[in-house]
Amino acid sequence: MDTETTYQLLDGKRCSEALKQSIAEGAAAVKSKRGRPPHLAAILVGNDGASKTYVEAKVKACEQVGFRSSLIRLPETITEEELLSRVEALNADAELDGFIVQLPLPTHLNADRVVQAIDPRKDVDGFHPVNVGNMVLGLPGFLPATPSGICELLRFYHIETDGKRCVVLGRSNIVGTPMSILMSRNAYPGNCTVTLAHSRTKDLASITREADIVIVAIGKPQFLKADMVKEGVVVVDVGIHRVQDTTRKSGFRLVGDVAFNEVATKCKAITPVPGGVGPMTITSLLLNTLKASR
Ligand code: NAP
Repeated sequence: MDTETTYQLLDGKRCSEALKQSIAEGAAAVKSKRGRPPHLAAILVGNDGASKTYVEAKVKACEQVGFRSSLIRLPETITEEELLSRVEALNADAELDGFIVQLPLPTHLNADRVVQAIDPRKDVDGFHPVNVGNMVLGLPGFLPATPSGICELLRFYHIETDGKRCVVLGRSNIVGTPMSILMSRNAYPGNCTVTLAHSRTKDLASITREADIVIVAIGKPQFLKADMVKEGVVVVDVGIHRVQDTTRKSGFRLVGDVAFNEVATKCKAITPVPGGVGPMTITSLLLNTLKASR
């Protein structure tokens, strides 16, 4: 047991439970005003196990806060035209406030075309170019769920960001790139000096060691090591991986992109995996749906 633990655990479960209480109150208010609660739909194409787990967690979260949810399961073999017509039908459905198309899609489907077909006013994942553009310009719209959930978590724990050096590791469209924009905007959380690092970044450790805040979304198990960060850093771990663990009944355990045990000893604050960013992503989706219903 670590007796020298001084870091603060940024507990995404605790934060999301607190947020869900106010979301449930918001849902009840929408229901009494409009005669129906907020309604979220999710399209799941094919049988990918991880995607199924994520979608089911989203549906369950809707139930917890009193939303209506619809899970639309479509076969792996669906054509792009058929999928686009399902998206159009959801765009036109007045009983539906927001919907998501669970990614990744099977390779014969063009995810960009599908996302761009979603009405931006119902795009509660915040992936449509209109919502991305609004985020960049600081205009109202839907923020992408994972980066926005990380902002909520930093806010919940009053993590200081103003004037800090933030390194975002990974430049995906759904996590790293929007995260870098949100951390550099003139807001709280924000006002950081941000470096966005990726696979072509040279001497990465020298860059991460300068950071007051490191947000890791690269999809490599336990990549960030203790010698890559400075004392007193705040670390947010977006990654989620199953690794073999014969000591567990299940035969595996979940780890992030950060080597938690060694990195945590140098941290002021750090997110755990599981129970850090994951629950916050789902809660952000609920917040966006509540916003759409209003
Ligand atoms: P992604 O699309 O695979 O992007 C990975 C990024 O990391 C890319 O920009 C890549 O650079 C960069 N990268 C890869 N290897 C690198 C290296 N050695 N050094 C520096 N940069 C490197 O990943 P993602 O969709 O953002 O997801 C990242 C992780 O977060 C995954 O484990 C995913 O499962 C997890 N995730 C979790 C949640 C949640 O709710 N907890 C949500 C979304 C994602 P290039 O661009 O140069 O290739």
